[in-house]
Amino acid sequence: MTRNSESPLKQRQKRFSGHSEQVRYRRGVVVGVRRVCRSVTVQCHTVTVHCDCPACPRAPVLGLSCPRAPVLGDPCLSVLVLACRAVKRIIVRMGCVDISPYRGFCGALVSLFKWVPVIVISAIVSWSYYAYVAELCIKNVESDVVKVIFLVGYHIVITLFLASYWRTVWTRPGDIPKRFRLTADELDSVEGSEDAEVQKRLLEQIVIDKDLPVVMRTIQGAVRYCEKCAIVKPDRAHHCSVCGTCVLKMDHHCPWVNNCVAFNNYKFFVLFLLYGQLYCLYVALTSLKYFLQFWKDVCTAGGGHGQFHILFLFFVSSMFSISLMSLLGYHIHLVLNNRTTLEAFRSPVFRRGPDKEGFSLGRRANLAEVFGDEVWSLLLPVFSSFGDGLTFPQRFSDDAELGCGPGPGTNLRQGEAGLATIT
Ligand SMILES: [Zn+2]
Ligand SMILES: [Zn+2]
Repeated sequence: MTRNSESPLKQRQKRFSGHSEQVRYRRGVVVGVRRVCRSVTVQCHTVTVHCDCPACPRAPVLGLSCPRAPVLGDPCLSVLVLACRAVKRIIVRMGCVDISPYRGFCGALVSLFKWVPVIVISAIVSWSYYAYVAELCIKNVESDVVKVIFLVGYHIVITLFLASYWRTVWTRPGDIPKRFRLTADELDSVEGSEDAEVQKRLLEQIVIDKDLPVVMRTIQGAVRYCEKCAIVKPDRAHHCSVCGTCVLKMDHHCPWVNNCVAFNNYKFFVLFLLYGQLYCLYVALTSLKYFLQFWKDVCTAGGGHGQFHILFLFFVSSMFSISLMSLLGYHIHLVLNNRTTLEAFRSPVFRRGPDKEGFSLGRRANLAEVFGDEVWSLLLPVFSSFGDGLTFPQRFSDDAELGCGPGPGTNLRQGEAGLATIT
């Protein structure tokens, strides 16, 4: 078959080099990033990326949409393509392509396995909904007034609880902006120098040249950078080994939400704990009377099918209420002190040295940092935290410490000074 007799689809096959950089490894870790993809093959409407570089943002994605995609005439094929793209988007969002070092089918299986805790929580909440609404309220509460009160209160609490939970699960925790990335030359020069002092000076120079707003340092006094992501770490950002990337103001990686809890979803996470606690208490307290009544029946004559639902409903809600109480209390303590879970274990280090209270602005201002200062949005699962996740007001400015600034407490954001009570 001659070239000209190939099908139109085959004729559309092209090659181009969208990226032509190479990756340099040292002991299995990306250190030199002459990244990214070596070659990209365009096959009609999809792109297959031939790259095994974990640092390459396009590398793990097979079947990327091609910017030069031709319009397909066949409606069936178009529907198929749209369906494939939708599935790909869901898979990408579920993290199936983000997992390092797993790739392909194994990566997808590992990612799907990580959704098991989310599925378990969803199943428990679904069952509790049936048990509370159908078995308790509809079948066993006799008074219509009490029934309506129970149901209205229950639906308000469960709506707030589920909204907070799903926003924690589906909100991207905090991507690092591109300007924090080191170029291949910068990384080569930093990694290439054996002398720690030279490396420290190079990183300081990079921060000055790029005008990066970083005030935190390592315990050795150097600018913090992540060699896995090849970035200068913004203040309070950390590398998550589960997500395989650095995230802004990282608190911790939570398997129950299969997501990092970080700058963008920390408020949702605290609300999830708060409304989870409220949900469990509400269910436990409103079912207590019926629980005691059925407990007596079970002990004397053996309970029916529906009675066991109510007995378990009380046990499960009480158990979760107790376990959530300590976690909620701990995170309220962290919010009031403007600390992340990681910072509670290891104090943030500034040029002046480690300072556990470095970001604390007083309880009211600390609360406003996470929940905002608008009363209507305080307890709703909408994003209202202050700032951009890159810079944070500090108790003391390093400049003030070095004698260049106006003094302690002056590093607050505009408009926050009135809220802050400097401790
Ligand atoms: Zn990283
Ligand atoms: Zn994570």
